[in-house]
Amino acid sequence: MEKNEILVVYGEDPAEMAGKIACEAHLAELIGDKKKRIGLKPNLVVSRPAEEGATTHPEIAAGLIDYLQKNGFNNLVILEGSWVGDNTQDAFRYCGYDQLARQKKVELIDTQLDKAKPYDCKGMKIEICDSARAVDFMINLPVMKGHCQTLLTCALKNNKGILPDREKRRFHSLGLHKPIAHLNTAARNDFILVDGICGDLDFEEGGNPVSAGRLFAARDPVLCDAWAAEQMGYAVGEIPYIGLAEKLGVGVGDPAKAQVRELNQPLKAAVARPGGKVRQLAQYIEEQDACSACYAALIFALSRMNHTELGRLKGKIPIGQGFRGKKGSLGVGRCTQGFAASCPGCPPSGAEVLGFLRGHS
Ligand code: SF4
Repeated sequence: MEKNEILVVYGEDPAEMAGKIACEAHLAELIGDKKKRIGLKPNLVVSRPAEEGATTHPEIAAGLIDYLQKNGFNNLVILEGSWVGDNTQDAFRYCGYDQLARQKKVELIDTQLDKAKPYDCKGMKIEICDSARAVDFMINLPVMKGHCQTLLTCALKNNKGILPDREKRRFHSLGLHKPIAHLNTAARNDFILVDGICGDLDFEEGGNPVSAGRLFAARDPVLCDAWAAEQMGYAVGEIPYIGLAEKLGVGVGDPAKAQVRELNQPLKAAVARPGGKVRQLAQYIEEQDACSACYAALIFALSRMNHTELGRLKGKIPIGQGFRGKKGSLGVGRCTQGFAASCPGCPPSGAEVLGFLRGHS
């Protein structure tokens, strides 16, 4: 897998999807030496199951561990520290990582209990936990989801979990964006596999999951987050830490430079019964056999629109395979290409849908 590539896989079985993407990325070749200590860093910010949109599905880690062990890599460790105020041990238990580590005989480290040392992160001293620094190859397993302060959290921000709690507190006092960018000059991001199964609409703690049924892999954490921002309907400039990380040389912040390789077609999946804010937005949608990723793009786009913009929409927005070959005024996704106005893409990104809806209301 090349540094500028993003590999995307759709499906309903996260373990199988993770194994497929690892194979296609030739992950074993990227790692090299079988003796390397390999870290898996999920997002277990809180003690809530992955279906609620905050934490990484343990099946993704399971699929990767199976792949790694089959390829002769046995020095594996899962490491994470929940946010200040939550207990990582609880998160390991509630989120299924305790059981996973036991079953697969993989070490499990709570970074909240780890020692840390300060490192020069290109002009900013940041304390990083020893267990993360001891890893030779880090697999970052973030959730693509909204965040109440930074709007998006994905690969770059997930590395906050390798900080001691006192450093996490200091990051907030510094406004998050600048320290997140600096942290990633020292944090390893050797391979990134993003959980895009059902990340939260706008809150890192979950509660409003948006079903998208997708995983994507990257090697450049900045490009990864820039592309994720677009999927969620944001312009990259709205998330300052992406541009700051690019300026520090962490990676490329222009999603147009990503070579996106889809490993299969988006799935026509039963759209999960949405709750809360997602249900409110769903009232603007007329869905007939929509793929999850397409539907999610429309939900993300609608969530970026204000009341006035939503009020200007003329009726419900058709989306889904049930509209193939049909006529209409305005629709989203290639399946509605017979309509007078249709947002192209299969699936389109949230940013593309947002631009289309704003241009047609
Ligand atoms: S355009 Fe149609 S086939 Fe493509 S992702 Fe959307 S619903 Fe699925």
